[in-house]
Amino acid sequence: MTRPMWINGAPTTGVTDGVIEVHDPATEEVIETVPAADAPDVTAAVDAAHAAFADWRRMPAGERAELLHRVANQLTAQTEALATLLTREGGKPLVENRDEMGWSAACFHYYAEMGRNSRGRVIPSVESSQLNLVLKEPYGVVGAIVPWNYPILLMAWKVAPALAAGNTVVIKPSEMTPLSTLALADVFGHLPPGVVNIVTGYGRAAGEALVLDPRVRVIAFTGSLETGRHIARVAADQVKKLHLELGGKDAFIVAEDADLDVAVPGVAWAALLNAGQVCTSTERVYVHESVAPAFVERIADYARRLRLGPGMDPTTDVGPMVGATYRAKVEAQVAEAVAQGARILTGGQRPPDRPRGYFYEPTVLTGVNHSMRIMREETFGPTIPIMTYRAFDEAISLANDSPFGLGANLYTNDARKVKQFYEEVQAGTLWVNDPLTDNDAGPFGGMKMSGMGRELGEEGLDEFRETKHLHWDFEGGAKPWWYPYGK
Ligand code: NAD
Repeated sequence: MTRPMWINGAPTTGVTDGVIEVHDPATEEVIETVPAADAPDVTAAVDAAHAAFADWRRMPAGERAELLHRVANQLTAQTEALATLLTREGGKPLVENRDEMGWSAACFHYYAEMGRNSRGRVIPSVESSQLNLVLKEPYGVVGAIVPWNYPILLMAWKVAPALAAGNTVVIKPSEMTPLSTLALADVFGHLPPGVVNIVTGYGRAAGEALVLDPRVRVIAFTGSLETGRHIARVAADQVKKLHLELGGKDAFIVAEDADLDVAVPGVAWAALLNAGQVCTSTERVYVHESVAPAFVERIADYARRLRLGPGMDPTTDVGPMVGATYRAKVEAQVAEAVAQGARILTGGQRPPDRPRGYFYEPTVLTGVNHSMRIMREETFGPTIPIMTYRAFDEAISLANDSPFGLGANLYTNDARKVKQFYEEVQAGTLWVNDPLTDNDAGPFGGMKMSGMGRELGEEGLDEFRETKHLHWDFEGGAKPWWYPYGK
């Protein structure tokens, strides 16, 4: 049976024929099918969101906050069922998906309160007879286009602030992981019909129809650089507001004073979490030459010992990759690097004992350099390519030698190095001694080609609000600077 979409507060398989098969990446088997929606279904969802906007924006903020807290509570209550679905369709170990559910619920709680508290500000006026307000207002219908690696979390980062700001939403999950998002119909079921709608389908059909609908005033997109660029071109004619969270090539610098007992597992986790399919995965490691031999030997040993397996197995450390094409990209980058002189210390192959599933062994490489694709392009797989450096300036230059600027990491307790790192590294999020930890109050997003706009924090709410300036002269008399000039 095809799992229905959610439009105007009701389940529907839509008017478009055709379904998408969703696979379990650990077994390659089809789990379920979902509608392959096209423009007419997207139009129906936008109709519903557009109609619901007038009442939703006028709802007192306190009432809206209560409804959003309830979304958060339902996410918490359904953690186990949704985390299981996330593992089955996306492959991540169950423990990582339980975390994803917890973070998603926390995001709804955070924006429930933020929306209750924030409407703009009062600014000093030019004359004493005036009131000047900076008003923050919702745009209208927001299109939330989400990738497969964190389907619920990246939905939450968009939908929670969009709703808190008074917008209504149409969500388009990835065609690879739509099941957990469709299961949210229950979670959003208490909201007025049309406030949240979920349509499934391929990017070029359903996603693009959402971008093209002129009533959709904001597209909040997380995905690849290539798709982000395409969306920007399509949206340009309508001068549509875009919020783009794109790819990354995060650097990790390990200084000479780093405690290797912490840095080795820390770097490995930052690079291999979700089989390296995190936008802020560590994709390049720069280690000071004095500690490099010990670091390299220890991280290769560590990566070799990690247990590869299906995400539903509680002993699994690293699950499968999401699909065959993503694994093929990693394999091509590794093969090219080796052909250009890189050395594989561990991994570099599919696990021989797992003929089914999109598994790829955690792979540690040395002898890499910035002429190789594996050090320049997003890999999005379980790889740890390592270079050494001599001076900290050199490490900073290497970290900045990338078209991307999403995140960057550093292990050190040297305050001067930390200062240089946060002043000079071009990335939206910098982590020192605690890789990849998110904070709902801290803005997240990329510099350079990693995107534009920020999710989370106050900045994340502002992405979904228009700014209006009200200038009100309550005496309203004629002004001495009007015509005629030659008085
Ligand atoms: P993708 O670009 O292939 O797809 C993302 C979404 O866009 C999917 O829902 C897809 O259906 C939709 N889409 C595809 N073509 C479209 C079109 N023409 N119009 C409208 N929508 C379209 O990305 P992916 O493979 O699902 O995700 C992996 C990528 O996401 C990686 O590059 C990763 O770095 C990036 N990512 C970035 C962040 C971040 O916060 N910066 C977070 C997670 C993932």
